[in-house]
Amino acid sequence: MKKRIISVPWMGEEYTRQLEKMLKSLDMEVILPEKSAESLKKAVQNSADMMCFPYKGVLANYINVLDRGANTLLMYDSCGECRLKHYYKIHEFTLKKLGYKDFEMYPITITNIVPTLKKLSGKSSAKVTKVVKQLISDIKKVDEEKWQWSDDKINIGIIGEIYTCCDERVNYQIEKKIRSHGANPYNASNLTQFIIESIKETFHLENKIGKTKYKKEANKYLNGKLGGHGRENIYNLLWMHDKGVDGIIHLLPLSCMPEATIEPYINDICQERKIPLLRLPIDETNSEANVDTRVETFIELIKRKKK
Ligand code: SF4
Repeated sequence: MKKRIISVPWMGEEYTRQLEKMLKSLDMEVILPEKSAESLKKAVQNSADMMCFPYKGVLANYINVLDRGANTLLMYDSCGECRLKHYYKIHEFTLKKLGYKDFEMYPITITNIVPTLKKLSGKSSAKVTKVVKQLISDIKKVDEEKWQWSDDKINIGIIGEIYTCCDERVNYQIEKKIRSHGANPYNASNLTQFIIESIKETFHLENKIGKTKYKKEANKYLNGKLGGHGRENIYNLLWMHDKGVDGIIHLLPLSCMPEATIEPYINDICQERKIPLLRLPIDETNSEANVDTRVETFIELIKRKKK
């Protein structure tokens, strides 16, 4: 293979830039996906209709970077229960069918990230471990600075599928929209939470650390593992209710299995506890103006009710 030119799927500006910084610190050449209607169109045309939107968005990212010279693709693999763990296989298959032959695909998990990056960069395990630890700490810092509870503004909790909650290219900059209407967004489905939960799941530390009371309550709603962030969203909602959240925005890709499964529970918890709820199903056919109007109306109604 020629010189490696590596890429990762876009997952929100801040997180993606941190990943870029980490890869560059291993002296790797990196190309990041550009937002491209053309790549998205091609991805949608070459995906099953009922495939969830993150799959199509990531495929669009890969098409975009392969067209611009990338030859090494990374994919996040949570090792969870949902179809995300199969994405990289289906992406690789589809890209090859589309005529992209000269690339390699690597899934990244909590346990294989160091050996994989060591192989790709040729750096030592010690060096790779150091930059991975730095990445986790940088991501934590991003989330701590960004997601803080407000004492003077109304707090709008965001729950839902993680990619949809974290990627401003997918969620129509929901965070910015909430802030522009004078409210404080709190995204409970952030990447730090995702990393912590993945580590706990990998090392069987489930339910031993953090929000234990809410996790126990959330477990009562389900018959075992659900996949995605279905259970996390139930316990984060219960936790935010106790913190006095003023409203909840539930973001989900159309046809998302875990989010559709928990929908009746989210509705019931919000109704019982009188938490205003706005659900925004997202796919490639959404219009930004529509999302804008719905978010604005939702926040204005909460403000009026509080007055
Ligand atoms: S959690 Fe939802 S969006 Fe993610 S892979 Fe599963 S069905 Fe798709």
